[in-house]
Amino acid sequence: MSPRHQLYIGGEWVRPSTGATIEVISPHTEQVIARVADPAQADIDRAVAAARRAFDTGPWPRLAPAERVALVRRLVEAYRAREEELAQLITAEMGAPITFARSAHARLPGVMMGAFADTAAGYRWQETRTGFLGRDVVVRHEPVGVVAAIIPWNMPMFLTVAKLIPALLAGCTVVLKPSPETPLDARHMAELLDQVGLPPGVVSILPGGRVAGRHLVAHPGVDKVSFTGSTPAGRQVAQVCGSALRRVSLELGGKSAAIALDDADPAAVATGMMVAGLMNGGQACVAQTRILVPARRATEFADALVAEVESLCVGDPSDPATRVGPMVSQRQQQRVRAYIDLGLRSGARLLVGGTGLPDGIDRGWYVRPTLFAGVDNSMRIAREEIFGPVLSLIAYTDDEHAVTLANDSEYGLSGSVWSPDIERATAVARRVRTGTLGINEPYSMDPVAPFGGVKNSGIGREFGTEGLESYLDTMSLSIRPTTANSTVPQPATAAPTTSRPQRADRS
Ligand code: NAD
Repeated sequence: MSPRHQLYIGGEWVRPSTGATIEVISPHTEQVIARVADPAQADIDRAVAAARRAFDTGPWPRLAPAERVALVRRLVEAYRAREEELAQLITAEMGAPITFARSAHARLPGVMMGAFADTAAGYRWQETRTGFLGRDVVVRHEPVGVVAAIIPWNMPMFLTVAKLIPALLAGCTVVLKPSPETPLDARHMAELLDQVGLPPGVVSILPGGRVAGRHLVAHPGVDKVSFTGSTPAGRQVAQVCGSALRRVSLELGGKSAAIALDDADPAAVATGMMVAGLMNGGQACVAQTRILVPARRATEFADALVAEVESLCVGDPSDPATRVGPMVSQRQQQRVRAYIDLGLRSGARLLVGGTGLPDGIDRGWYVRPTLFAGVDNSMRIAREEIFGPVLSLIAYTDDEHAVTLANDSEYGLSGSVWSPDIERATAVARRVRTGTLGINEPYSMDPVAPFGGVKNSGIGREFGTEGLESYLDTMSLSIRPTTANSTVPQPATAAPTTSRPQRADRS
């Protein structure tokens, strides 16, 4: 167990520069369950300095890619051995139902790590192109440098892995700042990294608040910022990175639409929406909270959805039967209830749920899973990200209207289209301006599939080759042999070129 009063900086547990602490409060009991060190600016400076040194002069960026892959594979083994412990931690700190915590919060990141390692193992780190000017050109993919990775609390280990592992595989050094709501899983990852033995300075993990985040983003020692969070915060991060000409990737908010075509099965759509709209208590960037249904069958879809929402078990997140747990914080609970109130005041029809606490619950930051019908796409509950268990049914007249409504949003992150006619569903799906979309599936997400948004949902992609490349820069080497016998040398980090097609180096 890591020392709670210490911080993980540059691969060591160290004494923080101040005695400030973060209280971790159970969303279920509202009791303090842990206190951990709160990083100050001096601690962040120390972490960036360590990452800078490790990048500029340490071994990590200079290892052969295969050596970094081997270390990540060791991390996967260490991770898997403690998966259940991690699921329990995440349930305790942010209230995710334990069954979902085991699968999505704990098991899935381990699968992702393995998949990212496979992607790096098969990546073409170097290629030689026949130049137009009489010489070969060697194109190298080099690590981008010191990465500041900032994540929110809603899927903490999933998002840690989505940034940290591709950045490490690329050869970057990383200062990760998780949210103050979820420092326990962050310490868990620090313990695992400690166990597998990275070179000094390569990773620091400092869960802290916005002030810490702002300081890190603006730090002159940082080469690239990878940010996941709300769109307003992402805008601020982009401004700072813009003026510093610092590379930045942004994974931001969403208000995604599920389109049930007029031949879709209401029961299948309703079941899918319990995942697509309500997983993690609706605290998901990919949540599809606008359910577009054909006007002439609106009642059928509404009935199927009401039956599903009413069947959800809401309560103690440590109970394996629970499907919807509490919101992460009192602030989040109040925010979601305010949106339910807004929906009622703007004339939407409440089918199930409401602003009160769920039946039988008298403490904890719970919200009743809520379904509105008769929602107009111009209402604020249809336009703004609520980040809680609140779904809106919006009626459309024909496929054209459905596509128009889906695209009438400042966001474009996720979505789904439902129909037994795959050709028709695919044609509709291709017209939706979004980064990812599932057809007859709650969402599209796979460690090999690029993930990210369009419009205000962000810039850049994570996962797959694209995710790895977001931590790489390219370098062109043009070499003129000076004697008849001289050959073009391979750069120091590359393994010997083999006789593969395209003269590619994958090692
Ligand atoms: P948030 O924007 O308030 O905070 C996210 C993280 O950024 C936290 O670690 C926070 O401390 C830090 N932060 C906030 N302002 C900052 C600033 N100006 N500079 C640097 N760091 C700053 O978001 P939240 O409420 O913690 O999380 C929910 C949001 O995250 C939702 O909008 C959700 O859609 C989004 N999200 C997006 C994705 C995605 O992949 N697109 C995934 C999960 C969550």
